[in-house]
Amino acid sequence: MIVVMEPGTSDSNIQRVIKFLERHNFRVVLNQGDYMTVVHAIGNKRLFNPMSLESLEGVKEVKIIQEPYKLASREAHPKDTIVNFDNGVKVGGYERPVVIAGPCSVEAEYQGLLDVAYAVKEMGCQFLRGGAFKPRTSPYDFQGLEEKALIYLARAKEKTGLLIVSEIIDAADMPMFESYIDLIQIGARNMQNFSLLKAVGKSKKPVLLKRGCSASIREFLLAAEYIMCNGNENVILCERGIKSFDQSYTRNVLDLSAVPIIKKYSHLPIIVDPSHATGRRYLIEPMSKAALVSGAHGVMMEVHHDPDNASSDGEQSLSVEQFTDITKRLNKLIGRIDYDNRMTKQELNIK
Ligand code: PEP
Ligand code: MN
Repeated sequence: MIVVMEPGTSDSNIQRVIKFLERHNFRVVLNQGDYMTVVHAIGNKRLFNPMSLESLEGVKEVKIIQEPYKLASREAHPKDTIVNFDNGVKVGGYERPVVIAGPCSVEAEYQGLLDVAYAVKEMGCQFLRGGAFKPRTSPYDFQGLEEKALIYLARAKEKTGLLIVSEIIDAADMPMFESYIDLIQIGARNMQNFSLLKAVGKSKKPVLLKRGCSASIREFLLAAEYIMCNGNENVILCERGIKSFDQSYTRNVLDLSAVPIIKKYSHLPIIVDPSHATGRRYLIEPMSKAALVSGAHGVMMEVHHDPDNASSDGEQSLSVEQFTDITKRLNKLIGRIDYDNRMTKQELNIK
């Protein structure tokens, strides 16, 4: 349930509403905007009559949220969430779409990672990705270089200034991730690992939450809700394809409709990973373009210094040359979208 206060209502009216809700065993989250204050009430509303709230001074309206996720919902939080990073990069809303690129796994050859990082930087992209702890289907496949990989990524950041993204698979590794990583990824396989969601929820670091292989959009948003209700509202969602019956031409099926749907029902940023969605190199460019045109706040793609000899996901990884070539064309599209976004921001008077 959300309680929308009258614009400019007094603090004492707001406090009265909060106390009233707390007396009825609701947990309260306050959202104070420039013009409006919204009080989110989280808890069981079955035995509660919302009319009793409507009569309190300063209350404009009481809305019962139909969707099971509250903090992630657009109804409760109409303004887009923009996730801010140290170096001024912003993700979400009408900000310029971002590109995250890098190898599936960070490998022993540090120079290879650095070659990719320089290309990512050169193309004006903002984030370098690389797996350190790999959730592999087979226990015999490459499992990642663990902390050594995080150290390599941090060194590549020192050289290039790129922000660093890597996937966490164990809550016990949180302190390590917090010291090296700018954006902590929760992979598709862990989208419903609730103890991991709670652990990243307690962190201040932004989280990149990937959609589970068989997760509905509602389950995806409820996973984001787990992170948010534990205190971390800096969540970026990532559509990465879902399993379907036809795997003859693609690894998964990219559900691009998830992008506008999520933008309608949630205020959180959403990006697209065409590499894992399609599993095919030649599909990265068309699907990246389609993702950006459908309104994604960014794309994430796998790039390797030597894809034929990569330890994981070589078949879907772009070479540095292919990445450079594709990104030249993507940047043109991003420039156009950025221009349109700036015009829209002006029209909507968004600062
Ligand atoms: C990845 O991004 O490296 C990865 C393992 O992706 P997903 O969790 O989407 O399979
Ligand atoms: Mn991969």
